Amino acid sequence: MYPCGFFGSHSHECRCTSTQIQRYRNKISGPLLDRIDLHLEVNPLSQQELMNKANGESSEPIRERVEKARVLQYQRFGESRTNASLNAKELQEICELDSGSRSLLEQAISSLDLSARAYDRILRVSRTIADLEASTAIQAQHIAEAIQYRTLDRKLW
Ligand SMILES: [Zn+2]
Repeated sequence: MYPCGFFGSHSHECRCTSTQIQRYRNKISGPLLDRIDLHLEVNPLSQQELMNKANGESSEPIRERVEKARVLQYQRFGESRTNASLNAKELQEICELDSGSRSLLEQAISSLDLSARAYDRILRVSRTIADLEASTAIQAQHIAEAIQYRTLDRKLW
């Protein structure tokens, strides 16, 4: 995604300058990034990896987990609504945090210099991760995972 296409690659060296990378990255505005729930870096697969049969989890158990998480959300809202449809106020009501989770989130917000909107995204995604594990409470590990999905917010250079 950066000028040479190899930024962050483990197999090829990126020779772009930090100025080039920054300029390229600035093409995506902060407010736009704020509206995207999940930022993930995905490394290219080698030919070997492409040819091998995937040994990850198959789609079927994942589908079941997602369906269960959706049922939890429908029960919570009393209608066919998911976490994605929550407004900021509803989000605050639904996403209660214990003191450990709250301080982890506050720390991340200040050290990664995240916006209020990114804060909401993390809360929403944390609630969904907790639902996928059928966990009533949002736990610190759910917050930590959701923070991982804000890669592009982080000041990596
Ligand atoms: Zn490069």
